[in-house]
Amino acid sequence: MQRILPRGEIESLDHTSIPRLRLPVRASVFADRAARLRQLATDNPAGAYLLLLAHLVDGQHKQLSALPAAALPAEVLATAQTHGMPPLLASGWKRDPQWLSILGSLLNHMINTPGVPGAAQQVCQDLLNKAQSTPQKLEDLADALLAEQLPEQDGAAAPFVMAALQVYWTHLACSLTEEQLSVISPFGVCPSCGSLPVASVVRVGGREDGCRYMCCPRCSVEWHLVRVTCSHCEDTKSVAYHAIEDGPEGIKAESCDKCHTYRKIFYQEKQLGLDPVADDLASLALDVLMGEEGYSRASGNPLLWHQS
Ligand SMILES: [Zn+2]
Ligand SMILES: [Zn+2]
Repeated sequence: MQRILPRGEIESLDHTSIPRLRLPVRASVFADRAARLRQLATDNPAGAYLLLLAHLVDGQHKQLSALPAAALPAEVLATAQTHGMPPLLASGWKRDPQWLSILGSLLNHMINTPGVPGAAQQVCQDLLNKAQSTPQKLEDLADALLAEQLPEQDGAAAPFVMAALQVYWTHLACSLTEEQLSVISPFGVCPSCGSLPVASVVRVGGREDGCRYMCCPRCSVEWHLVRVTCSHCEDTKSVAYHAIEDGPEGIKAESCDKCHTYRKIFYQEKQLGLDPVADDLASLALDVLMGEEGYSRASGNPLLWHQS
């Protein structure tokens, strides 16, 4: 394992010109992810899982494309602005039962897609039955997953439920404008929905060139964070970079010796079509190495749940 120490360079860019947010684009967010998952599945030890997810993300794309723009309640947006809080916080947002019909459509899509393994189709069928007979149980499961908890028996169902919640929250975020999101918001969480980031990406092109964005796996919003800063505790002195020797280019783990956590950082310059959720799932070897180095992952990936 190669350990690259930060060079301590201070970003000399004019910060006022850096876009603070990158809002999701309804037509491409999931379509791009599905294409990337298929690309990454080749020669990947987790290839079969990445292909299964590609089918699921195709379904997410279909669902999101079919939804008309959401009307977000003005009073919720105004209150969030006043308090400098994310307006779409899972704990405070009244979730529309619409998400359950998104889930139903996603599950039907998986059941009817040739190439989805039988075991996964069975999980989808069981979940579909549950959605029809006891929807409240799925509301409870959604609440638990949104609070980063996994009920013991629901490991196999969790990625599908999260996939529906991703569509629902991304649908809401697609209807936001930058002005509706407070300039001040709590450190380390998505300024739109309050979720923890899955990873970060150093973007290329335009005013974002060379800037690092934290990526929300729930609503797909990205927010700017100065490089060489721990995305978990905001420390700037104990940050270091790790990469797998002879591994794919453009993927590192950004670790912090103050809070002993890490998150992955992807460099678009080296991986043009990258997607933070997909690329994270395709680089689990880096997680194994970071575990061996004694660092904990600062937050998970909603499409991958470990039973603990
Ligand atoms: Zn978010
Ligand atoms: Zn830290």
